[in-house]
Amino acid sequence: MENFIPENFRESIAGVTDAEALVAALQTERMTSIRINPSKIGKQQLTPVPWCGTGYYLDSRPVFTLDPLFHAGAYYVQEAASMFLEQIIKPETTRPLRVLDLCAAPGGKTTLVASLLPAGSLLVVNEVIRSRSFILSENIIKWGSPSCIVTNNDPKDFGFLRGFFDIIIVDAPCSGEGMFRKNSEASSEWSPENVDLCSKRQTRILHDIWGCLAPDGMLIYSTCTFNEKENEDVVVRFIEEKQAQCESVPLKEEWNITERHKNGATSYRFFPHKTKGEGFSVSIVRKNDGDEYSPSKKTQDSKRWVPLSERNSLPYKKYITSPDDFFFFTNPTGQIGAFPQEYKKIFTEVAARCNLVHAGIPIAEVMGNKVNPLPGLAFSSLYEKQAFPSVEISKEDAVRYFRKEPLQLSTAEKGWIHLLYDGVSVGFVKNIGNRANNPYPSEWAIRMNVDYGKLPETIVISGKAD
Ligand code: SAM
Repeated sequence: MENFIPENFRESIAGVTDAEALVAALQTERMTSIRINPSKIGKQQLTPVPWCGTGYYLDSRPVFTLDPLFHAGAYYVQEAASMFLEQIIKPETTRPLRVLDLCAAPGGKTTLVASLLPAGSLLVVNEVIRSRSFILSENIIKWGSPSCIVTNNDPKDFGFLRGFFDIIIVDAPCSGEGMFRKNSEASSEWSPENVDLCSKRQTRILHDIWGCLAPDGMLIYSTCTFNEKENEDVVVRFIEEKQAQCESVPLKEEWNITERHKNGATSYRFFPHKTKGEGFSVSIVRKNDGDEYSPSKKTQDSKRWVPLSERNSLPYKKYITSPDDFFFFTNPTGQIGAFPQEYKKIFTEVAARCNLVHAGIPIAEVMGNKVNPLPGLAFSSLYEKQAFPSVEISKEDAVRYFRKEPLQLSTAEKGWIHLLYDGVSVGFVKNIGNRANNPYPSEWAIRMNVDYGKLPETIVISGKAD
């Protein structure tokens, strides 16, 4: 089936690239690529994405839904061009960083950044659309990063964090030209008027968030469009107004990435007829001036996200490694979580002023005098493996777990049991003898019908060996 290419699209990219070659490429099958989670699995024998140490191309598109390692956050399905962010962020990672990913759902860039950040960093990730902020939280919990906060706010709401972030990523909502070969909706919704509208919205977002960048901080602006209006033109106007400069990234010739310059703006362009990936454009803007962050003297407290006293934290310390680096808190549904001590003040501040959706490591739910581990704890890179007895389960049982079905375990041990599939931590069930009850969240559960006799081949090899 031919992908629909909207009228006027060719015109809109004339002067940017060879429109006919691009349109021809948009008619071909898109590529499938994944990025592995280095805290869960090791290098793969697959074709590497050359600009990302953890990215791989697959020869075909498997049914990811039926792979337990996909649900366990062992890898993320991400279009290869976006992984170029690694080339921009990695050189900055010589010290702990405070990063804001402003337009973050479903979490492709977030999970990449989470894997790159050195210990002691803070990652605040935001999504303005509430339903999408839940998907973002799910992906982050599964990725297992302990120092990540998810918010559901408008960019304007971050004004209280003036000068706070070392890096701000604005992966802006755009007219979606880069998605033309992925979904036909993107092309049917495209129009020159929508491009203009997107460009105005992108400019507004950059202005709204610029104040939160620290002096010498880095703004990463990206879209998945090809036209100039949403890319270089937005950046040109912005750097002129803010007296800021674009920065360059060293490229290898064989990557076939297009570096473009326009009136002081530098952009890195991924055109599917040239580069192995989907449409993508990214620019880096360095801030020269601005205010340093100064914490407010009076911290506002949230009544919904409440740190626990040291004494009340004691029962939960056994669930994570290095518990003394964390404080424990209750969230609005009464669940217990943990977040790095060094960011307690900022946690409190963000909880009071933003719509906090998720923070740190999910720990437990308390029901009367019973403490039940939360499913998300199993995904954390800091889960203390001695906390519960573990059993290794089959692929079939792992799929059953992610479908929220009860399991029958090989162990006679009763109570909470930690499940591993292929050596990767997947969850907890409560063994009551003849069956094990499954607390996996229904909103995360696989809804697809499954023929357990025909589960697909393994997509990635587990094991941490490099
Ligand atoms: N960074 C994501 C990733 O890598 O998975 C993709 C982000 S997508 C290109 C842009 C996001 O911006 C969408 O999730 C959309 O809901 C959000 N968005 C839409 N309007 C917005 C606005 N006015 N301000 C901030 N974000 C907005």
